[in-house]
Amino acid sequence: MTPSGTAQMTKREDVLAAQREFLFPAVRPLYDQPLVLDEGEGVRVRDVEGREYLDLFGGILTTSVGHCHPEVVARVQAQVGRLGHTSPLYVTEPQVDAARRLAEIAPGGLSQTFFTNSGTEAIETAIHMAFLHTGRSEIIALRQAYHGRSFLATNVTAMGVWRPLASSFPGIKHAMTPYPYRCPFKQPCDESCGEAFVRDLEDVISTTTNGRPAAFIAESILGVGGYIVPPPGYFARAAEIIRSYGGLFISDEVQSGFGRTGGHWFGIEHWGVEPDIMVMAKGIANGAPVGATITRPDIAASWTPKTFTTFGGNPVSMAAACATLDVMVAEDVPSRAETRGAQFSRGLAEFEDQYGWIGESRGMGLMQALEIVHDKHTKEPAPQTAKALLEAAREEGLLIGIGGLHGHVLRIGPSLLISEAEVAEGLDRLSRACERVEQVGS
Ligand code: PMP
Repeated sequence: MTPSGTAQMTKREDVLAAQREFLFPAVRPLYDQPLVLDEGEGVRVRDVEGREYLDLFGGILTTSVGHCHPEVVARVQAQVGRLGHTSPLYVTEPQVDAARRLAEIAPGGLSQTFFTNSGTEAIETAIHMAFLHTGRSEIIALRQAYHGRSFLATNVTAMGVWRPLASSFPGIKHAMTPYPYRCPFKQPCDESCGEAFVRDLEDVISTTTNGRPAAFIAESILGVGGYIVPPPGYFARAAEIIRSYGGLFISDEVQSGFGRTGGHWFGIEHWGVEPDIMVMAKGIANGAPVGATITRPDIAASWTPKTFTTFGGNPVSMAAACATLDVMVAEDVPSRAETRGAQFSRGLAEFEDQYGWIGESRGMGLMQALEIVHDKHTKEPAPQTAKALLEAAREEGLLIGIGGLHGHVLRIGPSLLISEAEVAEGLDRLSRACERVEQVGS
């Protein structure tokens, strides 16, 4: 090893030692040998030892226009040198511009926004808003949903792995996840099952709440849960049901927003449903910490008490959001995601045919997943095989993500600007990783 190679190794070890010493141990890196990243450009990242990776996970579906997109970098740099912070006590143009851009692409009458610093805070805002608007305080979510890490959001999230404490918020109930691959009603699952899942939602409302719910909240595609795409018709009927009980429908678009699902700006638009409140974060500002809650003016007006967040809507984050949104509009990311997503989907379907341990390949647009099982018939989840594939992909210079209730679903969610050649390269690398797993034995 060259002297500079040794120095890089030492740097990696130093960073890892400092991480272990100074960060909460609960901040757990993904790989057995944690990856220490140093640089990024487009769909590539480099670690501190100079090794390059094709990044198909984009910082968890967040670097929506690619690492260090020059337009975003330039506009953030300009803003930070002009006015870095003011607080909401003052009005700034970047915040107004970002809100206007959101209103332009959001469905229907959603036009007024509150900016925060994370998806979690945006979820809190949406639920708080629903409580204030309806004067009610019960909420229904889905069992495989993930909505964030605050006390409230971990309670709205039902998956045990994300709930460090026992339930600490009353009034949160969970309905069955409309999960076609594991549909208990019928296989293959179809529109009639959508109706059966909606009956469960109604049952939860009428048997576990006082019948006056404030809202039903759901991701239009369940992200952390493993890119679960509900059956056709589910959301239209679910929105109808919650509204028939006087509640609001909140769509969590933190993962599925901004063209990610292909063909539309927001996942929920695929189902022809206009939410009452919509939550966004992740891809909105290409990695700058921005969360946003958008709703109709009649609902927004219900928040009459004063509210405040020091950093929410700060000019630097807002400059990042405006630049990212401009690039996304100019590049027409919904149609790019549709085309590149179809390319991924064809490739992943071939892997599904080829390997007995890939139970299903699924997804929409640039949100594509592989559900890993011990056997296609029993569908028993195989988290160890999923982990082996994650590690093998890394060996092949490829970053992907993991999710699902048992950590058995591999997730792809790259920059929305990924090219045809880069998708082909990703599929090649993933194919070699699958072969490695197959050789070792699943
Ligand atoms: N909602 C969804 C659908 C998410 O995927 C996440 C983050 N994974 C959140 C909310 C919370 O966002 P954040 O991590 O920015 O707080």
